[in-house]
Amino acid sequence: MARTVVVTGSTSGIGLAIARGFAAEGDNLVINGFGNAAEIEAIRKSLEEKGGRAIYHGADMTKPEEIADLMATAAAEFGMVDVLVNNAGIQHVAAIEEFPVEKWDQIIAINLSSAFHTMRAAIPAMKEKRHGRIINVASAHGLIASPFKAAYVAAKHGIMGLTKTAALELAEFGVTVNAICPGYVLTPLVEKQIPDTAKARGISEAQVKSDVMLKFQPTKDFVAVEEVAAVALFLASDAARQITGTHISIDGGWTAQ
Ligand code: NAD
Repeated sequence: MARTVVVTGSTSGIGLAIARGFAAEGDNLVINGFGNAAEIEAIRKSLEEKGGRAIYHGADMTKPEEIADLMATAAAEFGMVDVLVNNAGIQHVAAIEEFPVEKWDQIIAINLSSAFHTMRAAIPAMKEKRHGRIINVASAHGLIASPFKAAYVAAKHGIMGLTKTAALELAEFGVTVNAICPGYVLTPLVEKQIPDTAKARGISEAQVKSDVMLKFQPTKDFVAVEEVAAVALFLASDAARQITGTHISIDGGWTAQ
């Protein structure tokens, strides 16, 4: 039977690949995120090719009342949310003493608090129906730190704690809660930085990838968005029913060091 899957921040990158992965299985999708309206509509339509229905909700993940409306819309359209994927996230790089206060608040809101707001809306029906999957897209930065990414690292460590707590609260209700911890993933966002970084440092684009971006990723290769989606699909499957309160790293060996 088709599941209903909510993926926050799914107009681009990892979230979009996760939405496409579930859509390929014929699931119903609720997509979310910013972008060009015509492009989002084209994405929405393409997600219906395998027979599921897809709707778009433009909730801003910094706004709890808009998140509540997203979740209420999903439940009203499809009955309940079977799989919740908390993926929306942004980054800002600066030293702590120079970190803009509003950027700190925004990153904590999008990368951490939004997952609390979606979860508190989704959990009652999951508990009642005794099934559900919550998948939080964290990061290698949920496990380890890098300098100049204070808000991101704090939010990603926070979502690891939220994942474990929710898993314990839901363990007896057939609902699993897990995190995925990717290393460097080649999303459009990352790709766009390569030519500029090459120019700025006077090195080749290949060197930017291997010496700058993939410095800490032992495989010296990016993770593909489809590979992250495959982990999400596995965590949502019946085979993963005993996996809860933990994370799966997909980081080319980064956090083994
Ligand atoms: P991306 O920029 O390609 O996609 C981010 C998505 O979030 C977009 O759809 C965007 O519109 C949406 N978004 C941003 N702010 C929003 C807001 N206020 N409300 C609603 N939606 C909003 O980025 P990505 O690389 O695909 O990242 C997705 C997730 O994966 C993030 O949580 C990120 O931290 C995590 N992650 C990314 C990498 C990487 O290397 N790209 C590595 C580890 C973890």
